[in-house]
Amino acid sequence: MADNHSKEVRSYNMSRIRSNNTKPEVRVRSYLHKCGFRFRKNDKRYPGKPDIVLPKYKTAVFVNGCFWHKHNCPRFVMPKSNTDYWNKKIDGNVKRDSEHYQKLKSMGWRVIVIWECEVSDEQLKKLADSIRRDYNGIA
Ligand SMILES: [Zn+2]
Repeated sequence: MADNHSKEVRSYNMSRIRSNNTKPEVRVRSYLHKCGFRFRKNDKRYPGKPDIVLPKYKTAVFVNGCFWHKHNCPRFVMPKSNTDYWNKKIDGNVKRDSEHYQKLKSMGWRVIVIWECEVSDEQLKKLADSIRRDYNGIA
């Protein structure tokens, strides 16, 4: 019994760590879904495997973690040890991000980046509005 319980706790922890299922992404997806948007998740066919791909709106949404993608906010704190390693790693992420965004834009896609620290009800409403507003009807 005790062992089963700890296994459950472990798998719960694991599910929180898995990068594809971080909470902010889930919140953004479920909100958009509630608004009636149809989208694909982590579509490998697009540069950077966007978290949310809305083909009808030619819009890709990235929900970025503040640490991994170096957001200019209090959540981003460079680790004090192995700083060289982390600098390289994070800067590499940032460089790749911008390459992916550029590629998507050159394919005629709109790129929207949402930071995990910004995911709020108000922000989600703005996101849904801006997806609709900038849609010109030409898919
Ligand atoms: Zn942030």
